[in-house]
Amino acid sequence: MPLPRKVEVLVRKIINHGGSVYTLEFEISPAYTRFRPGQFTHLTIEPYRPSDGYWPESRVFSIASPPNADFVRVVYSVKGRYTSRIRDVLGLGSKCWLKLPYGEFIVDSELTTGDVVVLVAGGTGISPFIPFLLDENCGRFEKDVFLFYGMRDPSLVIFDRELELAETNFPSLKIVLFSEKQTTDKRFQIGRLDFKMIWRVIDRHGGNPVFFLSGPPGMIDNFKKSLINIGLSEACIRIDQWE
Ligand SMILES: Cc1cc2nc3c(=O)[nH]c(=O)nc-3n(C[C@H](O)[C@H](O)[C@H](O)COP(=O)(O)OP(=O)(O)OC[C@H]3O[C@@H](n4cnc5c(N)ncnc54)[C@H](O)[C@@H]3O)c2cc1C
Repeated sequence: MPLPRKVEVLVRKIINHGGSVYTLEFEISPAYTRFRPGQFTHLTIEPYRPSDGYWPESRVFSIASPPNADFVRVVYSVKGRYTSRIRDVLGLGSKCWLKLPYGEFIVDSELTTGDVVVLVAGGTGISPFIPFLLDENCGRFEKDVFLFYGMRDPSLVIFDRELELAETNFPSLKIVLFSEKQTTDKRFQIGRLDFKMIWRVIDRHGGNPVFFLSGPPGMIDNFKKSLINIGLSEACIRIDQWE
């Protein structure tokens, strides 16, 4: 596992998705992007002097870009004091510091037991799955992969293009989208991520599933409880719980 390193980066792209959700893309040397899909980065907008050795206040964000690239992307929603400051302080060309990579929520073929990989993402919880879905080696991935991705509003599908790319690259991938808001877009089931429906699909498919859950704490707790109630062992449930 690569050791975490600190690096100053430049903001090269900002996307405002609406609903207080933003993408930030940073220019970075590929020497710093040898992370495993699913890992996260610390981000600080405070001044940092490597000679001091003291890492200032920061927040963590899942890395939503492929490994070994010359950029790092994160998607954040403005929740409290610090993410409001990130929105207000960082503009195109701004510099800030990252400390990466961290985390054990790793979605890849080597570390995943079972023969069906089930990714369940609520809102911006899609981020840690993106590096895995964009992985150039995914075509050789021998397990079946399902992505169930729920959002409040279809306009909040943040990674439309990336999901299309993943579907062409990744023959075994099946994507099911859920929107809480009514839509005529046929790709969506209407309503929240529905555990019973998801379990029916997975059960009918057969095999030994491993679930990866990423999103708000309420969603994760509900899914984890439901999976345990249905008899899935905790070893087959991986979670990326955000505060
Ligand atoms: C593994 C992981 C991945 C995450 N990935 C994402 C992501 O991709 N996108 C996203 O939007 N959010 C992500 N989050 C949540 C994000 O890190 C923030 O916690 C969240 O955005 C809260 O908003 P805020 O920092 O503005 O709130 P604030 O109100 O500023 O703080 C929220 C919490 O941060 C902690 N905190 C307070 N002071 C400090 C301090 N000095 N130093 C460190 N922590 C402090 C406290 O627990 C506090 O309750 C992730 C969290 C985790 C644990």
